[in-house]
Amino acid sequence: MVKLNDYTAIVGPSVMARIRQKAKKLAGKKIVAISSTHQGGGVAEILNSFVFLMNELGINFGWRIIHGTPDFFEITKIIHNGLQGAEVKLTNRQKQVYLEVLRRFSVFNHLHHDLVIIHDPQPLALIDFYQKKQPWIWRCHVDLSDPGKSPWDFLAAYVKKYDAMVVSDERYKKNLAVGQKIIHPAIDPLSDKNKKLTALEIKRVLKNLGVNPAKPIIAQVSRFDLFKDPAGAAEIFRLVRKKINCQLVLLGNTASDDPEGVVVYEGLLKKYGRDKDIKILINVHENDLAVNAVQRAASVVMQKSTKEGFGLVAAEALYKGTPVVASGVGGLPLQVLNNQTGFVHPPDDFLGFARSIEEILKNKKLREKLGEQGRQHVIDHFLITRLLEDWLDLFAEYLPAKKRR
Ligand code: UDP
Repeated sequence: MVKLNDYTAIVGPSVMARIRQKAKKLAGKKIVAISSTHQGGGVAEILNSFVFLMNELGINFGWRIIHGTPDFFEITKIIHNGLQGAEVKLTNRQKQVYLEVLRRFSVFNHLHHDLVIIHDPQPLALIDFYQKKQPWIWRCHVDLSDPGKSPWDFLAAYVKKYDAMVVSDERYKKNLAVGQKIIHPAIDPLSDKNKKLTALEIKRVLKNLGVNPAKPIIAQVSRFDLFKDPAGAAEIFRLVRKKINCQLVLLGNTASDDPEGVVVYEGLLKKYGRDKDIKILINVHENDLAVNAVQRAASVVMQKSTKEGFGLVAAEALYKGTPVVASGVGGLPLQVLNNQTGFVHPPDDFLGFARSIEEILKNKKLREKLGEQGRQHVIDHFLITRLLEDWLDLFAEYLPAKKRR
């Protein structure tokens, strides 16, 4: 198992000493995070490392998952899409089903903690079903820059009851009387998904996936979600292939809180499944190693999203020295710096995407330069050690240490 000390080799002893110092003041505090799934998507990805490290730091940090029904997750996906701009009008029945699942969950899930963190809209309204005895923080990972009125009005009534709201970008802050902070998500450099792999290991994993390691790879690694626009990625790939012999790997998974994944995947299979240069892979065996190997083996990673909260996949690829060509939406431009760590285009600029990918495929020197700069950018800004520190600072604001006599 990875231990805190293992991060010293990556970020240096002074960063680790600072983290330990900050955690010391919070030792023994009981904190709980509540989210909607333990696998699939960026939130689960982060918490899977974060919770272990917080506990090793002496904080009694737990993680609970709401007991959603299929009906509930269909409704929360509608809310999610509505927040990201899809036209959505929530019905009274939908609101009732959403609230009833959370009311029931509040009975299963007793809270005796010093602080509660709620991730994303799915468990947001839980706050209504407890006698609030501690600070509650809503950590929203969704792009809130232009939410639909119906879902936002519904959610805002609950957000107002929180002590603070944490978002991933300045543009996601809302005009509400609630403390608002920005914390950028981060990746764990030592997890199976991001750790170093040998050339032999990469080859073995690619072989298991049925991907030919000898042909240049363009990859998009994402949940199968319409906002991630995997079909757009396939169209761009076909433009590139007219000029360069290459292949596309669309590696995706589904999450238990996202009922749309399989539908999007089936649509892709129908449209692109017979193209011998497009590999569409879903919920693969050894998921984390597969993501790792594909992001390392790819000459370029694409992220063609039309909306994106942050897009951890960009940091993951950049950390591995692979340049990223991405849409300029959500948190992607924070990670993909145009002409420095990759290239950024508006989501509808298919030709621009194709040109940038061609340039990277043709020019090894450029590829290496962007890759090196990308890796450094992630080390400087998007590693889990920085995330630990940001949250420890926030905890300290809400959980003042006892004064020594
Ligand atoms: N992911 C995965 N397997 C896949 C596709 C994606 O494990 O087949 C992971 C990906 O590596 C990343 C997370 O899912 O860690 C996606 O996070 P991101 O912030 O990019 O998007 P979200 O799904 O949260 O919208």
